[in-house]
Amino acid sequence: MANLVKPEETIKILKKYNFNFQKKFGQNFLIDSHVLDKIISAAEITKEDTVLEIGPGIGTMTQALCEAAKQVIAVEIDKNLIPILENDTLKDYDNAVVVNNDILATDIPALLKENGTDSAKVVANLPYYITTPIIMGLLEKHAPVKSITVMVQKEVAVRMQAAPGNKDYGALSLAVQYYCEPYLAANVPQNCFIPRPNVGSAVIVLKLHDTPPVKVSDEKFMFKLIRAAFNQRRKTLVNALRNSPELSLTREQIEEALTKLNMDINIRGEMLGLEEFARLSEVLK
Ligand code: SAM
Repeated sequence: MANLVKPEETIKILKKYNFNFQKKFGQNFLIDSHVLDKIISAAEITKEDTVLEIGPGIGTMTQALCEAAKQVIAVEIDKNLIPILENDTLKDYDNAVVVNNDILATDIPALLKENGTDSAKVVANLPYYITTPIIMGLLEKHAPVKSITVMVQKEVAVRMQAAPGNKDYGALSLAVQYYCEPYLAANVPQNCFIPRPNVGSAVIVLKLHDTPPVKVSDEKFMFKLIRAAFNQRRKTLVNALRNSPELSLTREQIEEALTKLNMDINIRGEMLGLEEFARLSEVLK
């Protein structure tokens, strides 16, 4: 029975194992049942699904996921949490697999294959210090995932949904919107966690597109342009692209491409939408 989400149950487990929170691993454990229910229902998990959980902690969400899914593969970096999960909180669930590893160093297709499947839904209360590398890694490496339902910092959820010209708009917005449809499922206050994080949180659902909303023949090149544009976002697009070590483009080439696309040569990258970056990428590649 999933009941760890009660604060007193979480504290009991932490005391029983004399567990010390590790700040470097971004450990903020969920203690609010309404938020847990929101995440589980937003993820739309069925008994057909395998769930990949990133950072199970003491297993609060893992228990609920095990009840909703066919199987749950939980990847946890902190070795001190493994005995708690294996010998205690997940011991009654025969559909849970716990892996002690860094998610950024995990070969996700191989892990899924070892567990008899070739795709999964990702569900996680993410460690905030590596939210962007985790999300970008899943998307850019085309990890075999159907959807990503994650708790992130509120500010990151806003960036994922931002539109051109907005101060929060950047490379993360474009990557998320190229690969997925982002949807904000809930805002979550600080008191829903032990210990409390310093920032507000949000649950965001990323539904992967079957086909991206824009057509581009060299996705990698388009993302090099995007990264270069936002690495120096105060500069004009021409200067930002010209200065990028990832690209070898001359001022003339970039100005010619912008003119061909009827764009102002003094435009900044933050004014371009996905469609414009795709068209620019086609002309410059
Ligand atoms: N899922 C739990 C919950 O909701 O209560 C814990 C969430 S806590 C915000 C993040 C978890 O991710 C911690 O258990 C932490 O140890 C783990 N973690 C941090 N970095 C990780 C990494 N690189 N790979 C896998 N797990 C990681």
